[in-house]
Amino acid sequence: MVLRTIERIPLEGKRVFIRVDFNVPMDEYGTITDTTRIENAAPTITYAVERGAKVIVASHLGRPKGKVDRRYSLSPVARQLPGILGKPVAMAEDCIGQRVAEKIDGMKEGDILLLENLRFHPGEEANDASFSRELASLADVYINDAFGAAHRAHASIEGITRYMDVVGAGFLMKKEIDCLERGTAANPERPSIMILGGAKVSDKIGIIGHLLNEVNTLLIGGGMAYTFLKAGGVKVGKSLVEADQVDQALRTVSEANRKGVKFLLPIDHVVGDRFDPKATKKVVPNGGIPSEWVAMDIGPKTVKIFLDEIREAKTIVWNGPMGVFEMEAFAQGTISIAKAIAQSKAFSIVGGGDTVAAVKMAGVADRISHISTGGGAVLEFLEGKSLPGIEALRERREER
Ligand code: ADP
Ligand code: MG
Repeated sequence: MVLRTIERIPLEGKRVFIRVDFNVPMDEYGTITDTTRIENAAPTITYAVERGAKVIVASHLGRPKGKVDRRYSLSPVARQLPGILGKPVAMAEDCIGQRVAEKIDGMKEGDILLLENLRFHPGEEANDASFSRELASLADVYINDAFGAAHRAHASIEGITRYMDVVGAGFLMKKEIDCLERGTAANPERPSIMILGGAKVSDKIGIIGHLLNEVNTLLIGGGMAYTFLKAGGVKVGKSLVEADQVDQALRTVSEANRKGVKFLLPIDHVVGDRFDPKATKKVVPNGGIPSEWVAMDIGPKTVKIFLDEIREAKTIVWNGPMGVFEMEAFAQGTISIAKAIAQSKAFSIVGGGDTVAAVKMAGVADRISHISTGGGAVLEFLEGKSLPGIEALRERREER
């Protein structure tokens, strides 16, 4: 999909509203514990500054539920931003209204103003028209660089674009779309494999359904594997199973067969006598999970089979850990997969909050072709859903 990107939009002297994802984690003292999201948006902000725009930066933070709640103020971000951008940043006390408009009137080219949390107003999440119009009135150009929020039809993502003449994608948004499209295109470089794991089948069944049309091989691990195994008649003990997904799992497997997609489930497991980091553990093959035990990770034989597939692949998309990687005793499967993907020459994409955390834990994040910054947004993209934040940019482009 071709999107109008910030590079193709004249910015000099313009008031440029940049929607970013500064929904950063903070500790109880309001100290930001991970500035990755700020760093990711920095190139777009810096570019607009260098082009002589008056740069208005807006984001949500947490879930203040449409009310002013100081715990969710963006002021800690305003304090950190100058250090990251190497430029001074002013902060507005709100994101709409007379005083904000006056502040913007006083801006000079290259100035940066960070607006207060968009979600202090109920109109943001409600995608309210008058709130959207108020946001739009602040600027001449709208840029969306918040891929992580692109699956939300919120005012600053969707509504605002209806009232702006010029809209476009920032660098991060562009990169996310380009990479995800390359990984999931109708014609990826083959063999193309998808590795899926994580806790729940119900979270991921939509992705499987969509990607059966696009990938050659599906590797399934993590908690979700046990619903599939149970559907196939394998005894899974006390492992995670979603009883209401068993039929769907069966249908999915036969659909994969019909479409000629190789569908690989674990053949052995690291099981624990309870769901606990200190559980007694052992490795068992399919059929060997004791009735009171829980499968916590894929076993070494499964790892070997998955690694063979990864080695052959030209395109790899990975979402969902292979086991309960938060517990050291059960992290091995996930870490082995992460390292193998890092070693592969394939075009590789990793998405999902926990999966990205696992890749960082394995110390190989810099050797993955693309680490997506979106959690829910990536999942919806992989399901083939259209994301409101991307659609809003595209529609505008087609109108002109
Ligand atoms: P992501 O955030 O990357 O999309 P998910 O949220 O779907 O991933 O899944 C991550 C969670 O799945 C982790 O908390 C992990 O502990 C859990 N998980 C993985 N394997 C198992 C398992 N065998 N049993 C229970 N939970 C599991
Ligand atoms: Mg998760």
